[in-house]
Amino acid sequence: MAKKSQRRPKRIVRGEPAGIGRRCGLCGKTRKLTRTPCCGQWICDDEDQYVLFSYARNSCYRNHDHYTLCSHHFNEGHQGTWQDCAKCLEDFPTELYVYYGTNEYNFERLANPPAYEPTRCSQCGTVIHLGEGGYAIRAGEYLCLRCSARDFPSRPAKRKK
Ligand SMILES: [Zn+2]
Ligand SMILES: [Zn+2]
Ligand SMILES: [Zn+2]
Ligand SMILES: [Zn+2]
Repeated sequence: MAKKSQRRPKRIVRGEPAGIGRRCGLCGKTRKLTRTPCCGQWICDDEDQYVLFSYARNSCYRNHDHYTLCSHHFNEGHQGTWQDCAKCLEDFPTELYVYYGTNEYNFERLANPPAYEPTRCSQCGTVIHLGEGGYAIRAGEYLCLRCSARDFPSRPAKRKK
């Protein structure tokens, strides 16, 4: 009886096989890839790794989907390229716009990001990095987590300083 094949078939993985030169444009992995709907780049097909509401940033797919102008631009159906889209610029505070256009979840980064003033906690003045999260907004003002925890303990008690 002839052997079915000389070489053992490679294990089939979902999506594309580990092909020649194909790798996730963000982390470089070569297995289990898919393409981004917005820009057609190879990316890890790893959205299932994400734990709901964990806000973890361990999924390449989700990071590109949630934290880039590329994906926002695509999802909102804007015209032209995101790099020179006026609507994208309007949709976010400049700091976030720059973050979404230049962070490590981008395949292509904004070449000339606009300048912006750093965002500061309205109480203690600590610089808050909007892109990294970890802040609160109260009455239109930014608060660092330390100040927001101090002023607003577990219950929203009404308390003036
Ligand atoms: Zn990846
Ligand atoms: Zn994209
Ligand atoms: Zn846009
Ligand atoms: Zn503060």
